Amino acid sequence: MTTFVLATHNPHKVEELRRILGERLGPHELVGYDGPEPVEDSDTFEANALIKARAANLHTGLPAIADDSGISVRALGGAPGIHSARYAGTRDDVDNYTLLLERLRGESDRAADFMCAAALVDGDRELTVLGVWPGEVLEAPSGAHGFGYDPVFRPEGVATSSAELTPDEKNAISHRARAFGSLVVELRSLYG
Ligand code: IMP
Repeated sequence: MTTFVLATHNPHKVEELRRILGERLGPHELVGYDGPEPVEDSDTFEANALIKARAANLHTGLPAIADDSGISVRALGGAPGIHSARYAGTRDDVDNYTLLLERLRGESDRAADFMCAAALVDGDRELTVLGVWPGEVLEAPSGAHGFGYDPVFRPEGVATSSAELTPDEKNAISHRARAFGSLVVELRSLYG
């Protein structure tokens, strides 16, 4: 049995990841991380996930799992992308999606992807996988579940915003589910 540390301070993500990884982790367990948070100064989701996982691995000595995620909007050249959490400068979800809706006002191309890079760093190896959840940005927010840009994102093949999906529905198909679904396959082959 291996204990993995989950290198995030975001309680929404911890909750989603616990639910996503839950049974699929087999005999292994996941603990939270309360050590120092590194500066995420890279320009890709994968590299930022690795920065977080390396810091948690160094601090705890445990194999560390981290993610970096955000929304990339085609008409905005991929923005807000890696800057999603602080897009409006405040870290406030409503401010962030309100700014996104403003920037897209009158824009007919609403295509967007939620992206999630998941990383593992265990002292011997570093690996990353990427999960993509395609969809579009709505004209107005709706729904009360989830966090971040969920109220303004309609996933492809879904009639509502991702904030109207139940946590279980979202966790079955999201970018984070896709990335961690791939990562868990790697973990099980490395750690049993
Ligand atoms: P991170 O903590 O640096 O990965 O920042 C992720 C940011 O991207 C969050 O603060 C949200 O604004 C946005 N984001 C990532 N995943 C989701 C999601 O599943 N739903 C809504 N917003 C998300």
